Amino acid sequence: MDLRFSDEDEAFRREVRDYLETNLTGEFAEARGLGGPGREENEGFDVRLAWERHLAADGWTCIGWPKEYGGRAATLTQQVVFHEEYARAQAPARVGIFGEGLLGPTIIAFGTDEQRRRFLPPIVNATELWCQGYSEPDAGSDLANLKTVAERDGDEWVISGQKVWTSLAHWADWIFVLCRTDRSAPRHRGISYLLCPMRQPGIEIRPITQISGKQEFNEVFFDGARTPADNVVGEVNGGWRAAMGTLAFERGTLYFGQQIGFEREFAEIVDAARKNGAIDDPVVRDRLVQAWTGLRVMRFHNLRTLRDGEPGPEASVNKLFWSQWHRSLGELAMDVQGMGATLQDAPLQWMFLFSRADTIYAGASEIQRNIIGERALGLPSEPKPA
Ligand SMILES: Cc1cc2nc3c(=O)[nH]c(=O)nc-3n(C[C@H](O)[C@H](O)[C@H](O)COP(=O)(O)OP(=O)(O)OC[C@H]3O[C@@H](n4cnc5c(N)ncnc54)[C@H](O)[C@@H]3O)c2cc1C
Repeated sequence: MDLRFSDEDEAFRREVRDYLETNLTGEFAEARGLGGPGREENEGFDVRLAWERHLAADGWTCIGWPKEYGGRAATLTQQVVFHEEYARAQAPARVGIFGEGLLGPTIIAFGTDEQRRRFLPPIVNATELWCQGYSEPDAGSDLANLKTVAERDGDEWVISGQKVWTSLAHWADWIFVLCRTDRSAPRHRGISYLLCPMRQPGIEIRPITQISGKQEFNEVFFDGARTPADNVVGEVNGGWRAAMGTLAFERGTLYFGQQIGFEREFAEIVDAARKNGAIDDPVVRDRLVQAWTGLRVMRFHNLRTLRDGEPGPEASVNKLFWSQWHRSLGELAMDVQGMGATLQDAPLQWMFLFSRADTIYAGASEIQRNIIGERALGLPSEPKPA
């Protein structure tokens, strides 16, 4: 299998690299390195939003979308190249990630023409930001257990219930929210995929303080929140299909660029180990070699997945591997620094703390193992709740 990028992809890489070098200057120079998992509370929000709109004006948002919806119809490999170069340039974490990576592709696949006309342009132009309302206190891995209800009242849906762990709800204009619209139907039916404006009296957002002290995600309470009747993606009571579509997009190309960030974190750890002498410890050296090997495995696995076309259950192998690997890297970062790692704001401490969540979000490790067992290896399926 040839794992190299084609000449066209390499030409595209140079175009992206040149663009970022020329544009991450002036007012945007300060945006380099801002935001990302573990640093999303509000880090550099204004400059990052301005940067996102700058990217949009030059046609560099939503590049994988079809041209008719404002994208560039970039191939899968071009999207990977873009994410890699973006991370390499230390361009700021994208504030419109939920719209571009999750909701937009879902509307393109499952929405109506009217929804495409209404909701896609503000995602491309970064004038409307989104968050994801799936999880509830008793519905995480077992998402079909969700209890938030939506009832029709004339031309509107009225939503009541609670979502939790809603990342970036504090700056979102809209939420795509799974609601139960038929309580008598079996669990996976009777769920609808609604689009609901966030800034209204029926919605209260309560930040959750994480172990790091940051507040990147929230509880979202719906108490009679309203949204127009047409804001349903897919069929009323048939939202499960669209919801699963969104999760498939989440496990797709979204994480390709992060590997470059991992390489940077690894280099920082090696540097710290050299400076404080930890590099002379054979156990540390061994763990560094293992971490480096893991980086190479991830790269080749990603490239192989790409060559095979759209990622299927292999995406779960990928998620399982990188999340476990990154958690170990966080532990290594702390061990290399010794007692100093416990001081507030020690280098990479935020990464160590946030990496504990890597094996939970976008499908916990146990769930990825179930998917690999059932869909990749064809093993008997897990017993499911009735
Ligand atoms: C950083 C972060 C950001 C997030 N952002 C969002 C967001 O923006 N929007 C949103 O809707 N949600 C978000 N989530 C929530 C996330 O989707 C859930 O945490 C995840 O689905 C797990 O659900 P849970 O926390 O309820 O844990 P549970 O589902 O209760 O799981 C608890 C434990 O039991 C295991 N387990 C559960 N079921 C099985 C099974 N069948 N077989 C074997 N083991 C099992 C799990 O793997 C886990 O170890 C976020 C989570 C994190 C950590």
